[in-house]
Amino acid sequence: MQESIQKHPEDGFHINQFPMAAHGFFRKYRNLSQWVLIVVFILLPWIKINGLPSILINIPDRRFTFFGISFWGHDAPLLFFVLAGFALALLFVTSVWGRVWCGWACPQTIPVDGLFRRIETLVEGNHIARKKLHETSFDKEKILKRVVKWLLFFTVSLILSHTFFAYFTGPGELLSMSLGSPSENIFTFLIVNTTTLIILLNFGWFKERLCTIICPYGRLQSVLMDEDSLVVAYDAKRGEPRKGGNVKSEERGDCINCFKCVAVCPTGIDIRNGIQMECIACTSCIDACNEIMRITNKPKGLIRYESENGLKGKKKIFWKMKTNIYLGLTIFSVIGLFLFIFNRSGLDITVLRAHESPYQVLETAKEKTLIANHFTLNFKNQSTEKIEVDIIRSEHIISKEIEVIAVTLPVTIPPGQAKKNHIFIKFPKSILEGRSYHKFILHIVTKSKERTQKYRKEITLAGPV
Ligand code: SF4
Ligand code: SF4
Repeated sequence: MQESIQKHPEDGFHINQFPMAAHGFFRKYRNLSQWVLIVVFILLPWIKINGLPSILINIPDRRFTFFGISFWGHDAPLLFFVLAGFALALLFVTSVWGRVWCGWACPQTIPVDGLFRRIETLVEGNHIARKKLHETSFDKEKILKRVVKWLLFFTVSLILSHTFFAYFTGPGELLSMSLGSPSENIFTFLIVNTTTLIILLNFGWFKERLCTIICPYGRLQSVLMDEDSLVVAYDAKRGEPRKGGNVKSEERGDCINCFKCVAVCPTGIDIRNGIQMECIACTSCIDACNEIMRITNKPKGLIRYESENGLKGKKKIFWKMKTNIYLGLTIFSVIGLFLFIFNRSGLDITVLRAHESPYQVLETAKEKTLIANHFTLNFKNQSTEKIEVDIIRSEHIISKEIEVIAVTLPVTIPPGQAKKNHIFIKFPKSILEGRSYHKFILHIVTKSKERTQKYRKEITLAGPV
């Protein structure tokens, strides 16, 4: 078995290019989770909720749709809660279950293991056949297999890159751009094809090197995890001394030194050397070793999900200060996110004084001097349905002397659009009471299919002292 282990220190990367396939309990559930996640990733842009794409990140229009709710550029604070919630949830999960994210949900390991390695095995055969092919010089068979493999890799990369861009353009738009001439959308064409190339090289060639060389998450493990975090670990107390050397059979531990755990490891490490940064918790070595334990009539779990304290036979503590803080902050972020979403205003209103002089003195009627102020009202519909906007005229009659002239209102604003309106406010100079200004509340009402909302905007009426 030892000969089948592939390490390539000569290329500077510690990675097993030809990992043996593992079979067993964890493999079965990883296959299932990989397919579910891949299918969800591909289908999500096509699924509509409330008539909107389930996810659409429309950067030019600064409109972002998530599961039937649209957000606009000014909702950026929401992003804080989303990112903080995700980062804190990851901290919580890592502190309790170690690198479970890497093995079960990471967008790097899933396509590599779930798609590209499957294609490679389908075309070139198992790990022994792949290694043999790698070492032989190019003949007809090798060229054919390599061409077929890279063509299939390329096809999958095209699907992945187009799916990825469907999250930014919507699938319909992307489809029509893809069917049109590249010259019509040259910028999108170049970006999509560059992404395809990056995906192809990353998943087809670079593979788990990204996890061991580039990914910062792996390097943070020592900070995030502690002796109670679950990791994929070898039980040295039970396994050692392993078979081999001068160890007498009655003194041997359960490890028969078959190296199967190393042969299946995609990052090429020997888990028996202890917990290592390169371990992506793919669980292949657990399945491989359990199979050996079954054959040798030993209990399963020589390699298993275990904490350092668990390996030492100590009691495991789940609820610790660190874990509680991570969980508390995650819940806080999620609550903040929901509060933000449900308290969002459907209409953004800006009232600005018009550019010309701050006021105009109208003709003096009898003993009264009348003054007029001109304002522009900017309405932005932030909801997903059209709304009608008007001022509440009855509210303004309370101050009988003040007249609000809004000839362009009511106005209907389609979702996501903005409209500018003008209002003139006419009032007698006497309300200024010797000052140059007077505070006035403008009452605005919006009506949509779902609800009627009222808004108050304080404006300052200006006039001569
Ligand atoms: S698979 Fe199990 S028995 Fe074989 S070398 Fe690894 S730890 Fe030892
Ligand atoms: S040591 Fe085991 S769990 Fe870790 S990467 Fe290798 S095979 Fe996967």
